[in-house]
Amino acid sequence: SNINFFKVEDLRTVRSGVVYHFKVIHARLSYQLFRCPHCGFPSLIKNGTTLTKLRLTTLNGPMILLYLRKQRYFCKSCQTTYGAKTPIVEKNHSLTRGLKSAVFKLAKQSLPVTTIAKIVGISASSVERILYHDFQRPQRLAKLPEHLCFDEFKSVAKLYSFIALNAKSHNLISILDDRLSKNICAYFENRYSLNERLKVKSVVIDLNANYQIFIKRLFPNAQIVIDRFHIIQLVNRAFDQLRVTTLKQLNDKHSR
Ligand SMILES: [Zn+2]
Repeated sequence: SNINFFKVEDLRTVRSGVVYHFKVIHARLSYQLFRCPHCGFPSLIKNGTTLTKLRLTTLNGPMILLYLRKQRYFCKSCQTTYGAKTPIVEKNHSLTRGLKSAVFKLAKQSLPVTTIAKIVGISASSVERILYHDFQRPQRLAKLPEHLCFDEFKSVAKLYSFIALNAKSHNLISILDDRLSKNICAYFENRYSLNERLKVKSVVIDLNANYQIFIKRLFPNAQIVIDRFHIIQLVNRAFDQLRVTTLKQLNDKHSR
């Protein structure tokens, strides 16, 4: 409400060799305001507009910009100025709430950040900021699960990160920035008492020998289970290697 649209136009820009097509909606945000929000006196007058450039939601179409002229007010009694407000966007933000909720919807489909960025038409770092701006890693879980899974994955800058899951529910326990044994041990020892750690019954890991050394120390009662996936992967690799060496030893290249 309070927004009047008066023109839509097509905009074409070239940024580092790539052509971008935009739809630009020109609109004006204005309403009657009688009392000053600062001092409460009915001494407000309209005092020009400011232009803000906002991003609206779009899916696979051209990107849509809203050039919104916001009314400004001036209070004659306390000399302050005040800008008109709208619920479609937060103060000092240029990405509208609609666009942010589109990002959340796509993230719920487990799409990668870069894909979401392409679909919505904003940068990957903006997507990350929307998704994680108020995300805090939990300090610790109320109760450590009895069955854990440990693994590592390539994350930023091709470094490996450590991940721990609840083996039954697959809920996240923690992600650590690196996979150094001392940091993993410190993480669990600083958060969970020995009594809590004694209740862990099993830890599922790949064939990383480092983990086996400290798991016995961290979780003395836990059984180490090698993940089926990693065993099959190892067998497959060994089998393939043997196949290739045998193939190279064959002199008759036509009868394979
Ligand atoms: Zn005032």
